[in-house]
Amino acid sequence: MHELPITQSILDIALRHAEKAGARRVTDLHLVIGRLSYVVDDSIRFYWDTIAKGTIAEGARLHFQRVPAELLCLDCNHRYAPDDETLACPKCQSVRVKVAAGDEFRLESIDVETSDSPSSLPAGEGEGDGEMKCH
Ligand SMILES: [Zn+2]
Repeated sequence: MHELPITQSILDIALRHAEKAGARRVTDLHLVIGRLSYVVDDSIRFYWDTIAKGTIAEGARLHFQRVPAELLCLDCNHRYAPDDETLACPKCQSVRVKVAAGDEFRLESIDVETSDSPSSLPAGEGEGDGEMKCH
């Protein structure tokens, strides 16, 4: 159940960046989850809809990128990707290993809309009707 504070911090970071960029809306979030991370993307999605409500990130799409795990053997310094059976070092069978990659969870980037034309803008004034997306 620790996804709630995690989701909250993702939102905070996204909003901070969006504000800096002068964004009107956050449309997409790109998240990186290591394979060893305990973060459950479905839970993030679940909380996201709730906590993003009323912010400029409401309705933003979440994209998850899984990165493979990598372990480092402390006995022989071998770096390797663990298989699903065991985490032990394939070279020396040591179990004195540490996670070198794959336990991370971070917000990689966000996509924003910076158009500041409100949707009530009279038609025919602007040049870009690309902004007027209906969905
Ligand atoms: Zn080893």
